[in-house]
Amino acid sequence: MRSHPFSTLLLTIALGIVAGCRDATGPGPVAVPATVPSEAHTEPPLPMDPHSHARPNEVRVFHAELDLTLDFEKRVIAGRATLHLRRIDPKASLWLDTLDLTIAKVTGEDGSARRHELGKRDELLGQPLRVDLKDGDDRVVIHYATSPEARALQWLTKEQTAGGKQPFLYTQGQAILTRSWVPLQDSPGVRMTYAARVRAPQGLRVVMSAGERGTDGAVFTFAMRDRIPPYLIALACGDLAFAPISARCGVFADPSVLAGAKQELGDMETMVQKCEQYFGAYRWGRYDVLIMPPAFPFGGMENPTLTFATPTILVGDKSQVALIAHELAHSWSGNLVTNATWRDFWLNEGFTVFLEQRIMELVFGKERAAMEIATGDAGLRKEIAELPAKDQVLHIDLTGRNPDDAMTAIAYDKGAAFLRRLEAVFGRDAMDRFLSAYFSAHAFQSITTETFLKFLDQHLLQSDPARKKKVDVHAWVFEPGLPKSMPELHPRGFAEVEAFRTAWLATGKMPADAKPGTWITHQWLHFLAGLQSDPDVLRRVDQRFGLASSPNGEIRSAFLTRALELHLFDFVSHTMDFVSQVGRRKLVLPLVKALMSHKDKSGEPHAREILVRFGPRFHFITRRSIEQLVDR
Ligand SMILES: [Zn+2]
Repeated sequence: MRSHPFSTLLLTIALGIVAGCRDATGPGPVAVPATVPSEAHTEPPLPMDPHSHARPNEVRVFHAELDLTLDFEKRVIAGRATLHLRRIDPKASLWLDTLDLTIAKVTGEDGSARRHELGKRDELLGQPLRVDLKDGDDRVVIHYATSPEARALQWLTKEQTAGGKQPFLYTQGQAILTRSWVPLQDSPGVRMTYAARVRAPQGLRVVMSAGERGTDGAVFTFAMRDRIPPYLIALACGDLAFAPISARCGVFADPSVLAGAKQELGDMETMVQKCEQYFGAYRWGRYDVLIMPPAFPFGGMENPTLTFATPTILVGDKSQVALIAHELAHSWSGNLVTNATWRDFWLNEGFTVFLEQRIMELVFGKERAAMEIATGDAGLRKEIAELPAKDQVLHIDLTGRNPDDAMTAIAYDKGAAFLRRLEAVFGRDAMDRFLSAYFSAHAFQSITTETFLKFLDQHLLQSDPARKKKVDVHAWVFEPGLPKSMPELHPRGFAEVEAFRTAWLATGKMPADAKPGTWITHQWLHFLAGLQSDPDVLRRVDQRFGLASSPNGEIRSAFLTRALELHLFDFVSHTMDFVSQVGRRKLVLPLVKALMSHKDKSGEPHAREILVRFGPRFHFITRRSIEQLVDR
């Protein structure tokens, strides 16, 4: 997932419908796999996951067949899930995770009822569903329906989409929300294949995170034949058209933005090839991107074979493609090798930021990569100053807490900094050999931090004890703060920004050699971060550069945050305008935080107004984060 890199405001430009592409899909109809994959019988025991009620070391789900109908009027998904089971303890019941599901009945394969019970509801984890199995049961069928408030689902009206013609539905499972639309063992250690048959209202297209997509009459069919963690089962449905980019890459989007999306994402195939050159084969078949409606709470979500991406990357100049590099990198780190529990989340995100930075260097050069790294590091240092010590460690303790609490710069940027340190000490060639070996040894597995550290020691550290000592792995993984060895980068592009800022503020004139018109997003963020806390200076900046209404959402959010922190409430109307169009948590939350930061509470009414006016349009994840700030 990327809650982090840049974006711009949603472009409301209508680029015309490419009718010819609308029906160009991937492969044709699929047969649902009926046989049990043989690997299902060779899995080792899983570590305890405090965020799941499942007991996968007794009975484990390894394949799910979904048969679902999407009801946009009732805002409900209803149908059945047939779960294929591996019974490790033949006497044990099956334990599943559910959240606000209505269970109509549970049967064996023959249709006869199985005794079951929903346990007590926990606000965070939901309700356990216990199913008592009969001898010989290797499948059960759960007949169920979701709640209109299901946390993973966002039902959008047609007015909330880019084209405005059809409603839209999408799922967001990470971290522990898949249980609100499928009864499963919702722990990232429990990997499974899945197949699905989905019915939707006429005129809408359904897509899922599955390499095989087809139709059977009016029913959409899918098969994911590689084992994935439950949080990667994903579905979207709406007025979607498709445009191919290469034989294995393409883009799904609202017809009104399809042409622009195809143009913006034209380098996808090159990126996949660069990744393969360094990290090993791309093992998922297709790689497509789905451009989401603006309410999507994240930058991107790495659903396998089908990245969900914020429309704020469509800016016309490819300046936001780092986000695609990030989601693509997850095809190796996160999707191929997955965190076994959420306390190991840094294995997903730290590796992915590290790979993303490498891809950006390979495609756009060292200088751009250096600015991306320096921006990440600056954010990391700022966040460390605010986080309690226990949350500054990579191997964070999340017992009794929401796993979303681990989605900080620690997992992302401290994780990446640790891997850069390993590369600096052992050299790029050794690091690349290690990465390739790591991905191939753990492909399609979920692993813990402990497993990673053991592999690291055996395959890299032990090769050179002096270098091993220099890295100090323990400090990086288990201690708060940042080791002193972490270098501070000073990219040339930032030095240019600093020289410009000093001269312009002192004289009011633009230095002859300055070219702010060519700056990339990171340079603007660096420019803003270094301004003194002076309302007059901020007003001058906006008068000259118009940042309060910048089409680049990253820059606009950073400027408005600064203004609101300085009590410049005449920028509140710009802020309302912005949040009415963007639901991305990373861009909305700092604004609310700035409004809530004043001792005199003068910003609070505006923060509340954001929650009341726009809260219902945000995804649960964005809304909950705002509520936590406002309802303290
Ligand atoms: Zn990510």
